[in-house]
Amino acid sequence: MSALLDTISRLRAEVCTLHSELTRYELVVWTAGNVSARVPGADLMVIKPSGVSYADLTPESMVVTDFFGSPVDGEWVNPDLSSSSDTAAHGYVYRHMPDVGGVVHTHSTYATAWAARGEPIPCVLTMMGDEFGGDIPVGPFALIGDDSIGQGIVETLKASNSPAVLMQSHGPFTIGKDARAAVKAAVMCEEVARTVHISRQLGEPKPIDRQQIEALYARYQGVYGQ
Ligand SMILES: [Zn+2]
Repeated sequence: MSALLDTISRLRAEVCTLHSELTRYELVVWTAGNVSARVPGADLMVIKPSGVSYADLTPESMVVTDFFGSPVDGEWVNPDLSSSSDTAAHGYVYRHMPDVGGVVHTHSTYATAWAARGEPIPCVLTMMGDEFGGDIPVGPFALIGDDSIGQGIVETLKASNSPAVLMQSHGPFTIGKDARAAVKAAVMCEEVARTVHISRQLGEPKPIDRQQIEALYARYQGVYGQ
């Protein structure tokens, strides 16, 4: 088995397993949502197939494409499956953010409720300082079909510490050094979206000083690495 084939097999198993975290944490319904992983050393990614139920996902059903979303020939090809409709956005992120090894997209309820209002989630919790290094920003409204979703994600994330962006009227996209880190960011994004929303019901949450946020972020990223 070639080294590339070996890596792709490993990533297909990993990406398949990580999809079960999206259902476990109730971040997705029906077939919405997707996880992808960059194939190290190749301009390729492994991503969820389009329109397949979470319960039916297998490592063999994960699709291999280039960073423009075109399927790539190889022993992994399954002619019955096409890649997720969000493939172009994932590919754009890999093309423009070389340190990113994983991308996740969901319509998780609370994060998407903030996206519907177009309101960044304010950094009012130490866990937000740790994980996001500040507010979780909002990206522009963009429709599927060209690079505008990918561009909006990249422009917003490059201007922020946050590994999560709430795309306006759509939902969160998250990134990480690998697919597992991007899934963690998606889980944490929904968690803080829910907590800050609940906090708001009884008053205005207290902001954390910029300096304190920077200290939290530096310590946490130093310990757990990004
Ligand atoms: Zn979506």
